[in-house]
Amino acid sequence: MMVHTMVYKPTQIKRFLNGIAIQWSDGHRSEHSHKLLRQKCPCARCKAVREDENPLRVLPSEDFVENLKVVNIQPVGRYAIRLTWNDGHKTGIYPFELLRSLNTTPANPPS
Ligand SMILES: [Zn+2]
Repeated sequence: MMVHTMVYKPTQIKRFLNGIAIQWSDGHRSEHSHKLLRQKCPCARCKAVREDENPLRVLPSEDFVENLKVVNIQPVGRYAIRLTWNDGHKTGIYPFELLRSLNTTPANPPS
């Protein structure tokens, strides 16, 4: 038996100064800041860092985090994109579902 799940697909992805903007197949447009994207990086390394409860761990400085930028976006199969960062980090593969769930764009107010 086939299980159908609703899959949102980007029709266009644009980089801008502080983040990326995604135009979705259902007409929705979302914007995601570089900072949030990096905080939510789904790669094993970032997950391990986020889940590390060692109080002595060294956190990146605010400056470092503020200056992180996406420098390249590559499609991965039909379900995700890979983001390459200006610090060389590129193991994060962001499924469309995750990007859609990170949507922080408020719904259009009624006119
Ligand atoms: Zn990562």
